Amino acid sequence: MNKNFPIDDRILLFIDKLKKSINDEKIPPRIDKAIRMFRREKNLLYIDKDNNSLKAVIKSQTKPEQLEYAISLKRNGEFFCGTQNLFPCGGLRGKICKHIILALIAVIKSGVGTRNDMINWVENTITHRPKFIKPEATEIFMKYQYALEGKIEWRPVEVLPEDFMAF
Ligand SMILES: [Zn+2]
Repeated sequence: MNKNFPIDDRILLFIDKLKKSINDEKIPPRIDKAIRMFRREKNLLYIDKDNNSLKAVIKSQTKPEQLEYAISLKRNGEFFCGTQNLFPCGGLRGKICKHIILALIAVIKSGVGTRNDMINWVENTITHRPKFIKPEATEIFMKYQYALEGKIEWRPVEVLPEDFMAF
């Protein structure tokens, strides 16, 4: 990235296209609300993505006392979000929550997934309800713990208010 042009519009393009593509009227307002929050927050995301799944741990840098969240989103549209004490995220209410939206933004920012692919995965969530899988969440948090202890290499992605400057 060129430092002379700090405005990175990949996130804007992604969000824009996502809102237009998604065939669920409840999701765009949820995305807008999430973006308003992200413009005031710094978050660290540990993301793990392969061809069929995205897993992440989200830690607020602005409010470090806040709970950490683990999210999982599969290519087929299965998803969940939950806290480190293994409760489902209260923000889900049947659809993707702000943590999943943030994890998608981290994917776009770090370039580990493409815009069209990620939009596709979100479209696939519409026919699913969130289903919290405790063993999977535990595994994600364990890997995160190992990273914090320096036992494995897992570098976080920072999502900052500046990332939303183009909005
Ligand atoms: Zn959540």
